[in-house]
Amino acid sequence: MISSRWSPVQRRAVGAYLGLAIGDALGATVEFMTPQEIKASHVRHKEIIGGGWLRLKAGHVTDDTTMSLALGDALLQAGRFDPCVAAHAFDAWMRTKPVDIGNTVRRGILHFRRTGEPCSPPDEQDAGNGSCMRVLPAILACHGAAEEALELACLHQGRVTHHNPLAEAGTWCVARLVRMAMADAEPGEMLAGPVAALVSAWPIFRFRTRPEISHPSGFIAETLRAVFQGFFDSDTFEECLIKVVNLGGDADTTGAIAGMLAGAYHGVEAIPERWLQALHPPVADACVSQALALLAASPLPVMSTK
Ligand code: MN
Ligand code: MN
Repeated sequence: MISSRWSPVQRRAVGAYLGLAIGDALGATVEFMTPQEIKASHVRHKEIIGGGWLRLKAGHVTDDTTMSLALGDALLQAGRFDPCVAAHAFDAWMRTKPVDIGNTVRRGILHFRRTGEPCSPPDEQDAGNGSCMRVLPAILACHGAAEEALELACLHQGRVTHHNPLAEAGTWCVARLVRMAMADAEPGEMLAGPVAALVSAWPIFRFRTRPEISHPSGFIAETLRAVFQGFFDSDTFEECLIKVVNLGGDADTTGAIAGMLAGAYHGVEAIPERWLQALHPPVADACVSQALALLAASPLPVMSTK
């Protein structure tokens, strides 16, 4: 499945996609648990064993990964990025009766079904993490494109369900970080660039505070504080993911976002073999082939409207 002939960028893109799925599969076991509950039942949760409130089979993934794959497939098929490509992809995804689906995501897709409008109404309240968790295909499809194209692509996929300034700012920051990681940037540059910009515009994203974030909810600021804390204060892919999912809360999604970032930064070769083996093979294959296909097709043209 993993080839030594891949270029550094291919290894990072595949690392990001497998990282997303592995973080999702690992975190789902402890989703909605508190750190104390995790400690009581797992001591330290670090194996992909399934279970959790969704009663997943070991190695299976949730909406974080399957929405990403749905978006990426649709982009490859369309050969372009416009808001309707994303909306149709999510609509078709919801018809597959996914194992989990967030309220904001459901509402946005129903709005599209009812109106044909691929942009949900602005919502000042609901700054969920659902648009951030599925942003990877947009990043890969815009590899080699101008920053403006990537920013527009992030909005296209995000606003189908999450039309909220905080969700958009967080998603954009993660997109820039993954793009920098794929270009071999150092953590110091990431902190000084996208993270500093995000925190200065929205201080609620500030991390490394006392007390540190624990039990992060699906609120984008809590999610990203957990992800930043895990990524910037760890040396390896494995350490990052274990730290993040053991915070509990929306652990499949913090795991997915941390996995995409750490996978892009450390590359696929840094992912522990036991986690690669544990991931459901059809999911692993889909992540690898889609990462490579999106890179090969990139940059896809990003249209401003349908
Ligand atoms: Mn999920
Ligand atoms: Mn989740």
